[in-house]
Amino acid sequence: MNCGSDKVIYMDNNATTRIAPEVVDAMMPFLTDCYGNPSSMHTFGGQVGKSVEKARIKIADLIGADPSEIVFTSCGTESDSTAILSALQTFPEQRHLVTTRVEHPAVKSLCDSLTQLTGHKHRTTRLMVDSDGMLDMNSYREALSEDTAIISIMWANNETGVIFPVEEMAAMAKERDILFHTDAVQAVGKIPINMKKNQIDFLSISGHKLHAPKGVGVLYVRKGTPFVPFLNGGHQEHGRRGGTENVASIIGLGRACELAAATMEEENTRVKALRDRLEQGLLASIPKSMLNGHPTERLPNTTNISFEFVEGEAILLHMNRYNICASSGSACTSGSLEPSHVMRAMGVPFTAAHGSIRFSLSVYNTEKEVDYVLEKMPAIIADLRAMSPFWKDEE
Ligand code: PLP
Repeated sequence: MNCGSDKVIYMDNNATTRIAPEVVDAMMPFLTDCYGNPSSMHTFGGQVGKSVEKARIKIADLIGADPSEIVFTSCGTESDSTAILSALQTFPEQRHLVTTRVEHPAVKSLCDSLTQLTGHKHRTTRLMVDSDGMLDMNSYREALSEDTAIISIMWANNETGVIFPVEEMAAMAKERDILFHTDAVQAVGKIPINMKKNQIDFLSISGHKLHAPKGVGVLYVRKGTPFVPFLNGGHQEHGRRGGTENVASIIGLGRACELAAATMEEENTRVKALRDRLEQGLLASIPKSMLNGHPTERLPNTTNISFEFVEGEAILLHMNRYNICASSGSACTSGSLEPSHVMRAMGVPFTAAHGSIRFSLSVYNTEKEVDYVLEKMPAIIADLRAMSPFWKDEE
């Protein structure tokens, strides 16, 4: 199948990323000749097992962890569920969770379902954010209570890129002896992380957000943290996650982490410059456009911009005609026309929340692509506004 990826201007990297060619090369032997089971006693399988352990070391190195603290999972969602459910089983009498109003559905829906499934035995405090998408540390402190089993706060928001001070928050949790989980799916590979310098207990990673394949994730579990597996089965991952390892993808994730560690500093400066060029260009050339999210406390690759009085889905369809891929903050995917829960939590005005577009760049984007988008967007928005009754009232 030719999906036409050579023609696409891909600026939707917070949704998923291209697998790096180096990652594909590293994976190939494990999709062909090296098909042994890493748990087998024979040398053929044992060699695969050794390669899995080498990948574990590379992943640990990227986040300053010990390899024994890396547990392979199938995705970021599984890692999030594992961490939260583990804490709730460890402390069955503690029925309180602290999280935020802007978590990814991987955490948000789990918390919603817990309250329903357990007949309201669990209560969840969801911290508010301000108009920049930032948390208030006093509200956080006040939310922690005697019966809090776990705090789950994302490192970086997938829609706005806003970064939360999770290390400071984990230190406060430690003073109260409360477990701290962070969904770092959008942060790993984009900003430096060193688990030796913080007190976070659990951290979630997803392969497909950092140029590794879909279907592989990691849960970092700090040494000594009480842990209850989510999937029981064989003795894989030292009994912490049953199921034969997704070997090729694990090898791919190891290589992707190695690449990220080697190039992050330089590449992120370049990606940030491209992001800023795009952001400043759009805000300057399109009237009634505004940035959603803190101007500086943000991932280097993400910008979320609202174009007032137009619908996000309509903008995306028009962009699609020019092969430009991005995402909308209004929840077409959920089948409702409500703006996203993140935009609502930030109090973005209704007319702007509906027209929010997330551009998320990667190391594969170029200045030429940014300029192409800057050339096309003003006319797209102007055409849509010409059809909008709300815009006519505004004019
Ligand atoms: N958490 C965040 C912040 C995400 O952005 C995503 C994916 O978009 C996930 C969790 C889920 O990751 P996965 O697709 O690997 O389950």
